[in-house]
Amino acid sequence: MGVVVQKYGGSSVADAEGIKRVAQRIVDAKKAGNQVVVVVSAMGDTTDELIDLAEQVSPLPPGREMDMLLTAGERISMALLAMAVGNLGHEARSFTGSQAGVITDAAHGKAKIIDVTPGRIRTALDEGAIAIVAGFQGVSQTSKDITTLGRGGSDTTAVALAAALRADVCEIYSDVDGVFTADPRIVPAARKRDRISYDEMLEMAACGAKILHLRCVEYARRYDMPIHVRSSFSLKDGTWITDQRDGDTMEQAIIAGVAHDRSEAKITVVGVPDKVGEAARIFEALADAQINIDMIVQNVSAADTNLTDISFTLPHADGQAAMSALTRIQETVGFASLQYDDQIGKVSLIGAGMRSHPGVTAKFFTSLAEAGINISMISTSEIRISVVVDEAQVDDAVAATHHAFDLDADDVEAVVYGGTGR
Ligand code: ASP
Ligand code: MG
Repeated sequence: MGVVVQKYGGSSVADAEGIKRVAQRIVDAKKAGNQVVVVVSAMGDTTDELIDLAEQVSPLPPGREMDMLLTAGERISMALLAMAVGNLGHEARSFTGSQAGVITDAAHGKAKIIDVTPGRIRTALDEGAIAIVAGFQGVSQTSKDITTLGRGGSDTTAVALAAALRADVCEIYSDVDGVFTADPRIVPAARKRDRISYDEMLEMAACGAKILHLRCVEYARRYDMPIHVRSSFSLKDGTWITDQRDGDTMEQAIIAGVAHDRSEAKITVVGVPDKVGEAARIFEALADAQINIDMIVQNVSAADTNLTDISFTLPHADGQAAMSALTRIQETVGFASLQYDDQIGKVSLIGAGMRSHPGVTAKFFTSLAEAGINISMISTSEIRISVVVDEAQVDDAVAATHHAFDLDADDVEAVVYGGTGR
């Protein structure tokens, strides 16, 4: 009997009705002859609501308590789902991440999985039960405290369990039918992809596509675990994410999709002396403050000033810390000033076919120019081009690019079944 791991997101289990609907799907998978393991997220916007609550009682809640609080969201949905499955006449047992053997490091709020020992899940399956596991959580190997894997981390729980249990597939259920060529909330004519490679999906997740957690895709690629992203609201086949190694019979699209991200801000270090070692000093200060930098641009020195400007993007959330870290080294580096801009957005074009198709960049920039969109930063990888634009123009940039690369579907395919988009 094959093992199937299914993960249901918060919008799929937003209320009692949703939980009963999901329970029926789980039972159907079991009846089809599989051993079924389910990973579930917190109901609807529960996690956001718990964060709001925490912020009302403390401006800076300790990570340990925050994780204790947030993991409660998944415990509610796992128990309710187990009851709903039981009510359909099948035995289901719920497990916290810790009980399921998800062992992590001790970094509260962003713990990394270091081992998965799913002994109790195995036993439950062998005894004919359906195992239901709370997503996005584990237990620290060292402190034994409860940890969370970061927002959206249930996807990673699902893939990690699937790999540890040698499942045939990890099915990720959400409120859209799969991975689209753009966010259907912005481009209604976005097209569903039947297949995408791990590499493309990694770039899309890193560039803001919220459909899958980045670490989940990294994990799936490392263990070669096929992911099937699909809707819990329909029976349609979704998008398969695999390494596509032997899939050369199908035509490969040049462009996999257009992703966007509004979660970054831009800092410009103005008037940096143009001499050896200054950039190193700036980025060392940021690294010491644990700040992840994304794009970097160093402008050409103005002819006779011997000064340059260095701009980079980083998560909004790290903006304050980065500005303080840079202010501390202002005198030693000798730069003139700092500028902070959080009204930016990043738009990325992703596709493995770019490697062998010249002219993609030119077409991308032309489509943005025709839409009257100014580009303030550019970065590329082998299979991606990203630009930073004014935040107010992100939607237009996504739509223009999608159109220019003929990605628009003839008929609207994208259905957004639920979720508040929060
Ligand atoms: N409930 C958590 C969140 O909202 C984890 C997840 O849904 O994957 O981020
Ligand atoms: Mg999610």
